[in-house]
Amino acid sequence: MTSILRRLASLLLPLSFATAGCSGAAIEAAEGTDPGEAIASDEGELTTGKVQIVVSVDWEGRELATTNLEAMKAFRTANPDVPLVQFLNAAYFFKPGADAKTTSTKIASVLLPTDELGLHIHGWKRLFEASGVTFRSDSTFWGTPLDLASCSYDCGHEVPISLYNTAELQRVMRTSKTTLAANGFPLAKSFRAGGWMASTPVREALTAEGFTVDSSAANVPFLADELVGLPVVGWLRNLWGSIGTTSQPYTISTRAGALKEIPDNGALADYVTSAEMVSVFQAHKARWKSAPTRNTVMSIGFHQETAKTYLPRVTSAIREIKRIAAAERIPVAFVTTTAVK
Ligand SMILES: [Zn+2]
Repeated sequence: MTSILRRLASLLLPLSFATAGCSGAAIEAAEGTDPGEAIASDEGELTTGKVQIVVSVDWEGRELATTNLEAMKAFRTANPDVPLVQFLNAAYFFKPGADAKTTSTKIASVLLPTDELGLHIHGWKRLFEASGVTFRSDSTFWGTPLDLASCSYDCGHEVPISLYNTAELQRVMRTSKTTLAANGFPLAKSFRAGGWMASTPVREALTAEGFTVDSSAANVPFLADELVGLPVVGWLRNLWGSIGTTSQPYTISTRAGALKEIPDNGALADYVTSAEMVSVFQAHKARWKSAPTRNTVMSIGFHQETAKTYLPRVTSAIREIKRIAAAERIPVAFVTTTAVK
């Protein structure tokens, strides 16, 4: 249980490498290739679909350790053709003694212009209180009340944001957006909930605050081994029980409008091995082959806070995915959520 808790505590967690799909065409790493570009298949039919791969990063709001940031920099250098959806967290700016300039510099050091800046929220006490919301600690992902002894610096990472109502969540989203923008990180319209807990109030708050994309839909079977016996697994099954490896983007209606849900169908690197990520790609490759005129969307990623440990899994998987795509002439595009179609 200790290791499970450590993993969960550390977490509660797309440029374009495009290859032409036509026979005889050169395999190219085509940054910025028009995803709608028509290409001829072996049968001479026009195909426009690709395997679209979204690679995301959850920023937990816990810490900005040099070792993890250095791991991310190395990944960026090795994979300049892979944009990342950065689900940023404003909680860093509310830690005691946090220097906004130093914090911003650290975050910016691992971003590229091709990245998308989304939002990630965990139940951090200082962030919620800075948003004018009364902090709640009566439940955590492991079913026990929060140990308030941990709160002198900050606490609440393991408190599901689904404990809060829509109005409260809107305040936290507004504070997060405003704080990140004021420090040089204007957000796009995408979001992932801490611990994937995008319950109905979270979805309503998102749409009310102008977010149009959520990527909290978890592929629970990938998480169940690590989280077995913890209440969060049941909550996630209730929210996302129908999500599987090849689940595709769909629309969620809320009282405040519609959200595009992009399933995190390949989960995050803390929970899946490189081989499992490649197996997700193989499933999408098969799906694309069965309907090559359509895109198929897969999602993989990692956490900033555990990048040193788990980002190598993503690096290795992407290397293998590129190798397979080139060898088998599978059109692949690494994209952000705004390009997902
Ligand atoms: Zn998280």
